[in-house]
Amino acid sequence: MTTHTERTGLLVISGGIGGMGTALAAARSGQPVRLLERAPAFTEIDAGLQVGPNAVRVLTKLGLYERVEDIAVFPERGVLMDALTGTYLTSLDLGPAFRKRYQAQYAVLHRSDLLDILLDACRASDLIVLENGKAVTHVHQLHGGIVRVECADGSAYEADAVIGADGLNSRVRRLLSDDEPVCSGYAAYRGTMPVGAIGTSADGDSVVLWIGPGIHMIQYPIRRGELYNTVAVFRSDAFQRGEEDWGGPGELDARFATACDDVRRGVALVNRGHHVKTYDREPLGRWTTSRVALLGDAAHPMLQYLGQGACQTLEDAEALGRGFAEHGDDNAEVFAAYEQERVPRASQCQTTARNWGEIWHTDGVGRILRNHILTSHADDDYTHTDWLYLPAAI
Ligand SMILES: Cc1cc2nc3c(=O)[nH]c(=O)nc-3n(C[C@H](O)[C@H](O)[C@H](O)COP(=O)(O)OP(=O)(O)OC[C@H]3O[C@@H](n4cnc5c(N)ncnc54)[C@H](O)[C@@H]3O)c2cc1C
Repeated sequence: MTTHTERTGLLVISGGIGGMGTALAAARSGQPVRLLERAPAFTEIDAGLQVGPNAVRVLTKLGLYERVEDIAVFPERGVLMDALTGTYLTSLDLGPAFRKRYQAQYAVLHRSDLLDILLDACRASDLIVLENGKAVTHVHQLHGGIVRVECADGSAYEADAVIGADGLNSRVRRLLSDDEPVCSGYAAYRGTMPVGAIGTSADGDSVVLWIGPGIHMIQYPIRRGELYNTVAVFRSDAFQRGEEDWGGPGELDARFATACDDVRRGVALVNRGHHVKTYDREPLGRWTTSRVALLGDAAHPMLQYLGQGACQTLEDAEALGRGFAEHGDDNAEVFAAYEQERVPRASQCQTTARNWGEIWHTDGVGRILRNHILTSHADDDYTHTDWLYLPAAI
């Protein structure tokens, strides 16, 4: 039962990285924003996040670079290793040449550090109202263009426009599509540890990725180098067999049993009590109506293999902020321009991420050929990153 209906202007649903980034970008363009988050507090999980230069440029434009610089790590290289043999395959130089080319650094951060930076900036803005404990249950477009948003606590809002940044299982997306998330059949375990507890195997200057048949592990330092982040990911045989209960720690151990010593040592660092089953969706051609827009994982959830889900979310936020600066509160114009600009790029990330996953996890002849090609790649060859990192609109 609705207890109270409030009239509002621009309403952002979600207090995640996408929701906060969007509220900030809109406010910096002069738009008052109300943000609704279902959780009782604004939090992120205990894990690291790779933030490519495309998203570091967005954070810089939002005026947050100094805070990022204070807490992030800027690795000198990305290193690719074979997870079974422990052999070095190739690396990408993330140093001065990379920074000059992409006009920004490659950053790695603790997720909650990034969320805190965004949250502090939102709280400092007179144009942003943040509300917790607001689980949105229904979104309707009413005649006359108003969007009605109802929450589980009985409150309701009638908004001029709504941005749905409510993640993979977005409620707002149901206005535009009846599609479902696609399960990859892979499970991810994550963990952060004080660097001192890891010993000599922690590489403080690199993002290290180990790839193998149906498995990979990624490690990098975060929080000024004080913590070391590990993510171990594997294809579940139990999922392939159609079992409901899949991805548990027993499978984690079994899948990594044949990995090299360094990888098995890394897998021992993850939190075995929690894992995520990874999903994406097929690209969606339409993210907006004249009053409603999807953003971030709500619009374009992707597998994590490009390290771009959150980065594309920040690009979305920047594009919307630019739209508000150009078109004021003409939401239909803002959303149409946003959709035209963002759908092709984010869709390309969704499909490319799937392809990278295939390449990383391949076996047999594919793996031999892949390793051969990778070992001849020069570390200052940016051919395969230009499309993603070169400045375009921003
Ligand atoms: C293993 C793994 C590793 C990854 N690594 C990287 C990486 O290195 N770099 C990168 O860029 N990306 C990475 N990603 C992807 C990244 O985590 C996501 O793309 C990003 O978090 C999406 O942000 P978002 O704000 O769109 O959605 P979310 O983070 O899902 O936030 C959605 C928010 O909406 C709220 N919400 C949901 N429903 C409602 C509702 N009904 N009412 C109100 N509030 C609601 C939620 O509580 C949440 O706060 C990774 C993903 C995984 C699984």
